[in-house]
Amino acid sequence: MRPTTPCGQPDLVSIVVPFFNEADGIQLFHQTLRPILDSQPQVRFEVICVDDGSQDHTLEQLLALSGLDGRFRVIELSRNFGKEAALTAGIDMASGEAVIPIDADLQDPPELIAALLAEWRRGFDVVLARRVDRTADSFLKRTTASLFYKVHNQISTIQVPQDVGDYRLMSRNAIEALKQLPENQRFMKGLFAWIGFRSTTIDYVRHTRASGKTKFSGWRLWNFAIDGITSFSTAPLKVWTYIGGAGAVLSLCYASFIVLRTLILGVDVPGFASLLVAILFLGSLQLISIGVLGEYIGRIYLESKQRPTYIVRQRYGVADES
Ligand code: UDP
Ligand code: MG
Repeated sequence: MRPTTPCGQPDLVSIVVPFFNEADGIQLFHQTLRPILDSQPQVRFEVICVDDGSQDHTLEQLLALSGLDGRFRVIELSRNFGKEAALTAGIDMASGEAVIPIDADLQDPPELIAALLAEWRRGFDVVLARRVDRTADSFLKRTTASLFYKVHNQISTIQVPQDVGDYRLMSRNAIEALKQLPENQRFMKGLFAWIGFRSTTIDYVRHTRASGKTKFSGWRLWNFAIDGITSFSTAPLKVWTYIGGAGAVLSLCYASFIVLRTLILGVDVPGFASLLVAILFLGSLQLISIGVLGEYIGRIYLESKQRPTYIVRQRYGVADES
């Protein structure tokens, strides 16, 4: 069992919630979360709400909420930086002994918080919440997500656990480790996995969104997947050496075959079609490999500028740690 803080105060637990155009669901979010927080008297909570450049009334609603409930603190980013950056901002500002990132749309059920805390008290630094039933997600999303995890884990040095999102509990130790990772393009699921620590898993059934629409279109998910793979694997860069090698061996065999055939059967004039196919095929392969190089070089370029991951416009009720 975890002890309370030395001065006898119960531990502070930070819940980090990114909000992007979620005004319609904020009331329900509060109504669902409040009784759960109230039912845990042995811990104190702070709820860090990050407004990720919303264009609706999310910020106003969040500020009204923090006026009502002193546990809610608000960070306003200067524009929309994306969920990974918003999460990073919230985690940076969190001062709890444990931190729980959770989505604002109630797809990550807050009822699980008690179970997450129980596992943390048993001594785990990371408690993962795994979706056992994803029928709430579309068929396309489920299959592409599963394909992504398979490909990613096959070619990366770190294993991102399948069907585990950002919803989890991390101890202060794990959070401090996470904050040491300096990269600016942050694929959080990968970073969470990279830091390691003693972890355990609890299962839950994922619901559909309480209100509003998903912020991740097909194209955004595709780019997110590429971010994930390029952040943790260099296999796509290296594979061209082997493809090139195999192509060279095949070409040599084919060349020997043509020489032999010409020696035996004489000069053979036709062959435009096969020539064209070979040129187009190799040309396309070269373009793809240049594209892959571009993905990595683009990321090196972005990292080399060392721009901050996010810019805070204003903090409301959150201590400035910088
Ligand atoms: N989100 C964000 N910034 C963005 C996109 C999303 O802060 O640019 C937040 C969003 O408000 C929600 C969470 O990230 O709290 C998850 O987003 P969403 O539900 O759209 O993703 P999905 O569950 O469909 O993967
Ligand atoms: Mg969602």
